[in-house]
Amino acid sequence: MSDKTTAVVWFRHDLRLADNPALHTAAEKFDAVVPVFVWSPQEEGDWPPGGAHCWWLHHSLRALGEDLRSRGSRLILRTGPALDELQSVLHATGASAVYWNKRHEPVLFERDKQVAQQLADDGLSFAVYEGALLHDPDRIQTTSGGPYHVFTPFWNKFRKKVEVPPPLDRPRLGERKAPDSWPASADLADLELTSGDRDGVDWAEGFGNVWASRQPGRAPGEKGAHQRLEHFIGNGLARYDQDRDRPDLDGSSLMSPRLHHGELSPRQIWHAVQEHSGSGPLSEDEESFLSEIAWREFSYHLLHHYDELPTVSMRDKFADFQWRSAPKRFEKWKRGQTGYPIVDAGMRQLWGIGWMHNRLRMTVASFLTKDLLVRWEDGARHFWDTLCGGNLANNSMGWQWAAGCGPDAQPFFRIFNPVKQGKDYDPNGDFVRRWVPELADLPTEHLHAPWEAPAEVLDDAGVALGEDYPEPMVDHSEARDRALEEYNRIK
Ligand SMILES: Cc1cc2nc3c(=O)[nH]c(=O)nc-3n(C[C@H](O)[C@H](O)[C@H](O)COP(=O)(O)OP(=O)(O)OC[C@H]3O[C@@H](n4cnc5c(N)ncnc54)[C@H](O)[C@@H]3O)c2cc1C
Repeated sequence: MSDKTTAVVWFRHDLRLADNPALHTAAEKFDAVVPVFVWSPQEEGDWPPGGAHCWWLHHSLRALGEDLRSRGSRLILRTGPALDELQSVLHATGASAVYWNKRHEPVLFERDKQVAQQLADDGLSFAVYEGALLHDPDRIQTTSGGPYHVFTPFWNKFRKKVEVPPPLDRPRLGERKAPDSWPASADLADLELTSGDRDGVDWAEGFGNVWASRQPGRAPGEKGAHQRLEHFIGNGLARYDQDRDRPDLDGSSLMSPRLHHGELSPRQIWHAVQEHSGSGPLSEDEESFLSEIAWREFSYHLLHHYDELPTVSMRDKFADFQWRSAPKRFEKWKRGQTGYPIVDAGMRQLWGIGWMHNRLRMTVASFLTKDLLVRWEDGARHFWDTLCGGNLANNSMGWQWAAGCGPDAQPFFRIFNPVKQGKDYDPNGDFVRRWVPELADLPTEHLHAPWEAPAEVLDDAGVALGEDYPEPMVDHSEARDRALEEYNRIK
């Protein structure tokens, strides 16, 4: 019988070795650590991981497993109820403790409480850390003591109250931190994460070209995450304010799937920006980028305090809003066949690479909820399934924001004009040409509203509207009036 002390480290949305408080502390306190990932989607309630999430997870787990192996450790994979699998690993290794970083989704928060209770009842120890957020949602409060509903005062308070400690180093693992014997592990393929089949189409097929390529900063995993962050800080950050709204440029960080899967932490991003900035005050671009990181904090703040954020409009009057059932239109929206090029380009980008530019998320969400009057929850479900970084907090808040029913939302009556959005944010048409190639030969002045182009221009560009590319599925100005009428009824 070994006298080694051993802890299980339960990996979840923290697929990294550096700045991982649970791993770091376990490696400091125990002689041996057993890294474990349990695949238990059935425990995630109404929001089991979506298809694109699973695709990313597969690659990120592989990267983490390889990284651990190269350091003399392993990643043990299990499938089944988390508690059962943890108990089985504890039993097989003689470990006496489980360490993990918090998850904030309401169902998992409750599940984790039960796991903790059972471990305690079994006489085992556990420790839970914050690895995903910069703030503690219970500690940042309004002056009257409740949660924040509006971002700006939240951000002001955050700036005053939150100290972001430096990130933790990667722990030393190696053979000396290995348990006496490794427990059984499933193969990654057993988790069946990459079968992205939708209606018989392997829609994740194109993901590999973008994400799993050998290009630095593209591949899922901790290494790729840091390469991309470094690239962004060195090249994009100084132009963030200027470029972040332009889907045709590489103007944002692409950190969302990385943060979602925990390949790096917000703390690492925060400090990387501070370091880049030096000792003086932050530039406007840096400040603006960190404020986006804080929007993520804000959405978790809301989710923490309002379990129903993913399913219930936070403005009560929306309970009476008459959404329309429009399955065919919804389907066309999903497939990028609305007849509005910027909307279609955004939806095809989402389908093609599992990520969509923020400006387009707002545009397509406005189109769905206001032009088509389809429930925001339906749009949120589709994003959930198709975004590699589909995230319960950000996605729910984003959709409530776009639909005008969230606490700090774009007012419902601000309805995006999809033609203007295209002209303003894709001024040369490069983005639309990339994702809607059937319109590629149209001159830029007609690209965002092809139905207004003279017949000979369409002819010259080889576009037969209604055949090569759809006519607009609704007339935007009529749709806008209809939406406002409905809004005025509930106002
Ligand atoms: C309808 C809708 C749905 C959305 N769904 C998601 C989602 O499922 N997952 C997700 O991570 N983000 C979501 N967002 C927020 C935002 O669009 C993405 O975080 C951003 O586009 C990701 O690209 P990036 O990492 O290059 O962003 P950057 O501009 O580089 O921002 C850096 C990081 O800040 C955070 N961030 C940026 N904007 C927001 C925002 N508006 N709200 C909250 N956090 C933000 C993200 O973590 C992002 O990775 C949604 C927004 C809308 C309007």
